[in-house]
Amino acid sequence: CGIVGYVGPNDTVDALISGLRRLEYRGYDSAGIAVTDAEGEISVRKRSGKLARLEELLEVNPVVAGSTGIGHTRWATHGGPTDANAHPHLGDDGKLALIHNGIVENFADLRAELGDVELSSETDTEVVAVLLGREVAATGDLETAFRNVVRRLEGTFTLLAMHRDEPGKIVSARHHSPLVVGLGEGENFLGSDVAAFVSSTRRAVAVDEDNIAIITPDEVRIVDFDGAPVEFAEFEVEWNA
Ligand code: GLU
Repeated sequence: CGIVGYVGPNDTVDALISGLRRLEYRGYDSAGIAVTDAEGEISVRKRSGKLARLEELLEVNPVVAGSTGIGHTRWATHGGPTDANAHPHLGDDGKLALIHNGIVENFADLRAELGDVELSSETDTEVVAVLLGREVAATGDLETAFRNVVRRLEGTFTLLAMHRDEPGKIVSARHHSPLVVGLGEGENFLGSDVAAFVSSTRRAVAVDEDNIAIITPDEVRIVDFDGAPVEFAEFEVEWNA
């Protein structure tokens, strides 16, 4: 029920975990992160239960994170609250990681389209991750692939995705589910709400319904589901913490 994204030079794991901690009030049953690691591969750590359990896992099985990461707290709708069903989910042979809040109503049709591929969870979300992976393989471009996939989804979603071959970039979309961007200096953030990044920046952009936000450490762009650029304005977060 919470989503965080981070691109920048600071401690990515720390940015994700502290963001998820500030989103805990939304409720959740599992938590997980994906980061680019020191080898440039995607590393995932995820667990059912409280964030403390994910932190324990990170202690025994740490990850040296690069500049890009996404974090998720899950409120299970499709598949029970197990480690395997926790997000992130992978596509494109592990080169892509995706997190999702919401429900993909047409997931059974999309699942059928994937044929006899073996999935590692019971979630509606993994179907989207695998579909996106196929689309990246076909188009060679994460942004194009992401637009092609989100246009086909029915239901509600905030989605974040990152790909090994495009480090320093997160693509995100919203449809009947919240998404905000946090603007930093040489770093940028995504969150379900401003709580996810308010300890780092007060400058934010509200992403509108059916828009896609693409963030890198130095740039934020917003487009609609057809790829047409969308103008946006930043606001100052008022926060008493
Ligand atoms: N429908 C997805 C799942 O069950 C996402 C749930 C959520 O919003 O956290 O895994």
